[in-house]
Amino acid sequence: MKYNLTQISLIGLSYSGKSTLGQIVAERLGWKFVDTDTVYTEKFGKTPAQAIKDDGEAMFRDNESVILAEVLAEDWLVVATGGGIFERSLNRRALGNTSLIVYLDVPVDTLYQRYLNDEGSEIRPLLETEQGVLHSLRELDRDRRPHYQLADLWLSTMTLHDIDHTEAVAQTATRLLNYWVQENSIAETSVERLARLEAEVAPSHPAAIVRTQDSVYPVWVGVNQIERLPDRLIQLNLTGRKLFIIADESVMEPHGRLLAEKLQAAQISGATYLIPSGESSKSSAMLEEVYAWLATHKAERTSVIIALGGGVVCDIAGYIAATYLRGLPIIMIPTSVLAMNDASIGGKTGIDLPTGKNLVGAFKQPRAVIADINTLSTLPKRSYIEGFAEIIKHGLILDSELLEWLELHRAKLIDEVPETALLRQITARSTYLKSLVVSADPHEQGLRAILNYGHTIGHAIETVTGYQQWMHGEAVSIGMTAAGRIARELGIMELSIFERQTDLLRDFGLPISAPGLNPDAIIEAMSRDKKVIDGKARFVFVSEVGKAIIHTDVPDSLIKDAVQRVTR
Ligand code: NAD
Repeated sequence: MKYNLTQISLIGLSYSGKSTLGQIVAERLGWKFVDTDTVYTEKFGKTPAQAIKDDGEAMFRDNESVILAEVLAEDWLVVATGGGIFERSLNRRALGNTSLIVYLDVPVDTLYQRYLNDEGSEIRPLLETEQGVLHSLRELDRDRRPHYQLADLWLSTMTLHDIDHTEAVAQTATRLLNYWVQENSIAETSVERLARLEAEVAPSHPAAIVRTQDSVYPVWVGVNQIERLPDRLIQLNLTGRKLFIIADESVMEPHGRLLAEKLQAAQISGATYLIPSGESSKSSAMLEEVYAWLATHKAERTSVIIALGGGVVCDIAGYIAATYLRGLPIIMIPTSVLAMNDASIGGKTGIDLPTGKNLVGAFKQPRAVIADINTLSTLPKRSYIEGFAEIIKHGLILDSELLEWLELHRAKLIDEVPETALLRQITARSTYLKSLVVSADPHEQGLRAILNYGHTIGHAIETVTGYQQWMHGEAVSIGMTAAGRIARELGIMELSIFERQTDLLRDFGLPISAPGLNPDAIIEAMSRDKKVIDGKARFVFVSEVGKAIIHTDVPDSLIKDAVQRVTR
């Protein structure tokens, strides 16, 4: 195979794992590993941190550019670049000429925890500012991300500092090398790519990219997105295909019509099947109806399924796309807060059986997720609020800044007419978090389990109430409250964090207790959950805002006590 590019260059903020991963990747390829910071220190006799302090950032950046040009003169290299190198257009162009550029992405709070654990490190002037390291990391992330996103590959390195560090590094290196084989022949040194890299103003990007072993797809979040579907189909290379729209009947009138009009205007042929609203549509009977409809309308393997609706439609349409003709491409157009932030991203699809929820399913990653904020204007208030449980969860387990935004803007977000720009910002951030986790662990073998915060007891509450009394997000809200109580007892969660969680849930109008439910029935239901391993329930706890840990050894008495308290 002929490779166009003879280097792999890693970009990203400090603590994103550039050196750790770079060394392993170089070892596997039999290439040389170079860290531009190390070369700088060797050449100038001082570390970048010292140079910034002594000579100022501008001079350091000039010298750094010279170093980069020298480093890139050699072939067969893996290069870990200093965090600011990619800010300069000249450097981006130089990297683009000879390197496949890989962006290592990690949520800021995770970087901050890595910083706190890095005891031996010297003072870093760009991080250790008056406002504090977390603040500096947030600022650097905001400033640099638009350029970092120009990379050829976007790789989540969230698992790198897991307990099982060596294994996590090895797995991430394998993922990177698989992409290298797939992508290097594509990421040519085209004029367009180089011009894009060189441009001073970064183009707008999707809110996130999900990248698993065998799929890569954008998550677009914005207003008027439905109208843009014909353009998106061109971007996704899905033109000339017949579309099969599976839509929630409550969503068809307000939003599906617009979609149909836009498709018609663009002369794209399609057919629509309406699914009755509600969880009962996630059934095998509905599955058969839709399969029969697809057969009648002669859907082929090249046809594209479009899911238009909340989590119910995403789940069943996803399962249909996974199974009909052994798999068709699907585009998710989620229309509820819950579906945008959770159900549409990550490829979990399925239906319910009379014996339990989501018992039959498959992993099927979509070709794109298109979240149109306009659709939320018609969402019933209770469904709208319910979805915020998942967003609050993302803030608690992964992102202290998202949690602060929710706290700051809570009144505006639950207003009768919420501010669109704010909703877009919050949704974009939350979908980005979910995408990063899913990309690092698509099949829920480790990290992805943290997304189950509040779900261990929440699911059990849904089960004992027959999925009638509480919506999914509401049950998760009660579950997070119970998990918080257990974490308090175990000394894992500070009172102030528990109170912030409780206040936020309550202010959004989410329930924090389910009075009158039978605690024994909830505990019994927990023991039958899919997530129980060797008879032990797996709990996710929040140890700090933005940091989650998993526990499998919680004393039964604590679980019982917490369940009793939320059912009082
Ligand atoms: P839902 O799809 O039933 O939608 C909630 C209600 O809102 C329904 O009545 C629906 O008709 C209506 N609706 C949706 N969008 C609307 C809009 N824009 N305007 C007017 N009405 C609208 O439920 P949900 O809360 O979106 O999702 C819950 C489902 O998602 C559950 O089945 C759950 O198991 C599943 N889920 C899946 C995943 C996953 O990873 N696959 C994750 C979380 C939840």
